[in-house]
Amino acid sequence: MRSAEDLQVKGKRVLVRSDLNVPLENGVITDDGRIRASLPLLRSLVEQGGRVVVTAHLGRPKGTPDPAYSLAPVARRLEELLGRPVRLARDVVGPDAQSSVEDLREGGVVLLENVRFEAAETSKDDAERGAFADQLAAFADLYVDDAFGAVHRKHASVYDVAQRLPHAAGPLVTAEVEVLERLEKDPDRPYVVVLGGSKVSDKIKVIEALLPQVDALLVGGGMCFTFLKAQGHGIGSSLLEDELLDQCRSLLDSGKVVLPVDVVAATSFSADADHEVVPADAIPDDRMGLDIGPVSVRLFAARLEGAKTVFWNGPMGVFEMAPFAAGTRGVAEAVAALDALTVVGGGDSAAAVRALGIDESRFTHISTGGGASLEHLEGKVLPGLAVLDD
Ligand code: ADP
Ligand code: MG
Repeated sequence: MRSAEDLQVKGKRVLVRSDLNVPLENGVITDDGRIRASLPLLRSLVEQGGRVVVTAHLGRPKGTPDPAYSLAPVARRLEELLGRPVRLARDVVGPDAQSSVEDLREGGVVLLENVRFEAAETSKDDAERGAFADQLAAFADLYVDDAFGAVHRKHASVYDVAQRLPHAAGPLVTAEVEVLERLEKDPDRPYVVVLGGSKVSDKIKVIEALLPQVDALLVGGGMCFTFLKAQGHGIGSSLLEDELLDQCRSLLDSGKVVLPVDVVAATSFSADADHEVVPADAIPDDRMGLDIGPVSVRLFAARLEGAKTVFWNGPMGVFEMAPFAAGTRGVAEAVAALDALTVVGGGDSAAAVRALGIDESRFTHISTGGGASLEHLEGKVLPGLAVLDD
């Protein structure tokens, strides 16, 4: 994989696929981590006199322009952080994009409007995606993919456009791949994985792929309840994926899965719901588990102690609500304290680290791409990476 540092960019038009998919609430960015992470490449291209055209997606618009998913707030934040004007094109490959790109000077930056406003971006039809990729490719002399969070997608701006231009991997992609390969190829042991988040179904494949590799798999978050139920415990109204009970039972047979022993059980999914810590095998019928309890935090911390490699994906509880954040905080602190290769994967996990005010530099690496890191760990070929390999 060629790295962006090896490109001669002065005066060239460089199409950069960035991951700027930040969370928004009422048009306000609640976590700008991905924008910040995208700065090093953009700064370097600008400083070298490149003419930079950035393409990115935001949320899941339905393949048509939708003001709710405009990149406008992202463009303003990027401009502030970069300390340079960023011109937002009002369309993706339409007349405004074309004239914005034509007007680009050396060191200038244009951000094309949300690439998912074009249905062709995510089309399953190769010809349709290809025709759109032709239009994107016409904007540039070179292509750099810095959107690790999208490399598992066979999308026009990730996959097809790379086939049409000389291409390279940006620093985020290079860093992610390096660290994932360290996890996959002969990790230092003990190797402990911590998984949480809402659904077992999102992570069942990675659990199956990782289980033979790891020394222990600690499971919290909403997904632990399907495992607890598979052990025969009542779980009240906690999250449950019935159809996965059999699979959870066979994963438990490995003897490597560690489940919480206590949980914070609430009367409803709400920050002001009545809640109490209960044993994990005695959750009242009318309550739902929204976090792992303090004894589980100590148990998980003890299992993490001495680990040399740790991968953590998925919050331990509904950390967005203060009463259910302690489990995630406790596990994050335990991981951060280790003298080990520590990797945090997953958009919500990374957001949790920042929201809880834990110093990011205490981890070896915080991944910007949740789904993509999981698929890499599953051993899948990721289209956006395969296409950069030559
Ligand atoms: P990531 O993005 O890090 O991979 P996920 O998207 O899988 O993580 O899951 C994150 C979400 O899981 C958070 O929004 C969190 O509120 C939710 N969650 C965690 N624990 C629970 C729980 N016990 N019940 C319901 N939702 C939960
Ligand atoms: Mg998530």
